[in-house]
Amino acid sequence: MTVGFVGLGNMGRPMAQRLAESGRELVVYDTRAEVIDRAVQFGARPAATPREVADRAETVLASLPAPHASAEVAEAVSAGSAIRLFIDMSTVGSAVAQRNSEVLSACGVAALDAPVSGGVRGAEHGALAIMVSGPRAEFDGAAELLAELGRPIFVDEKPGAAQTMKLVNNLMAATTLAATAEVMVLGVKSGLDPQVMLDVLNAGSGATHASRDKFPKAVLPRTFDFGFATGLMVKDVRLYLAEAEVLGLPSRLADAVAGLWEATLHQEGADSDFTSIVKVLERGSGVTVAART
Ligand code: NAD
Repeated sequence: MTVGFVGLGNMGRPMAQRLAESGRELVVYDTRAEVIDRAVQFGARPAATPREVADRAETVLASLPAPHASAEVAEAVSAGSAIRLFIDMSTVGSAVAQRNSEVLSACGVAALDAPVSGGVRGAEHGALAIMVSGPRAEFDGAAELLAELGRPIFVDEKPGAAQTMKLVNNLMAATTLAATAEVMVLGVKSGLDPQVMLDVLNAGSGATHASRDKFPKAVLPRTFDFGFATGLMVKDVRLYLAEAEVLGLPSRLADAVAGLWEATLHQEGADSDFTSIVKVLERGSGVTVAART
């Protein structure tokens, strides 16, 4: 079976590489020629458009940066002559996933929305959490393929349900990173050693993914290279707020967290690593959260 992959960025490239290295024939497309060239080096075959991917592959996966890109690609692949199943691993919100499912099924193509958690390292090691919604039989049929990339967890048959789950997960990640950044600045300002702070947090009830992984790897060394862009985090927080609005629910905490992320976008730029949120909180504090030498 030929597999297609559209979107070879931070997440898509390592996922595509795992599929190619598993011995599957892989056809790829991205709007950036240089990332297609890189994929060719690990054995993928290039396509000139998403439609061409869908003319050559029965199952097409995608990892795209924004809802409009996902909708555009879903529309393009729906007209492909070989495609039978589209699996969108992007985080795009439930509304777009539902619309994609309608567009695709009108053309006889099944759709699974399968957003992921676990970051670039998870993608490299085939250790992603993959939340999947859509027809159960399609999930069962795709489980072996998805298992190359991580652990597929079936969420619901309802299109978009996995997107909602993913946004819940990412609001937690956005909140704990923002909270960890805020308390670390306070601690350092008061004279605490940031490494000691992390050691204590991680041994106690204040531990978060940010204190365990993001701060030691990308903030204390001041490398800001964890691998998730601020623009994507802001997209996910906005999508969460949109889900809350549709459900008619208040979002007091998410609103406060969103304010910090919008400030990070404004001050550090969409391409900055999301760990840069700490710089926004450092600004004006007179301290930096850096490892002591
Ligand atoms: P990225 O920006 O690094 O990669 C996106 C890729 O899609 C780029 O190579 C871009 O050139 C390509 N692209 C854009 N529009 C396209 C189009 N119309 N057709 C074909 N290719 C197109 O983003 P990423 O970090 O790899 O994230 C991809 C998705 O996965 C996002 O939805 C993100 O929210 C989600 N995600 C990312 C992470 C992470 O840690 N980076 C973790 C979980 C989920």
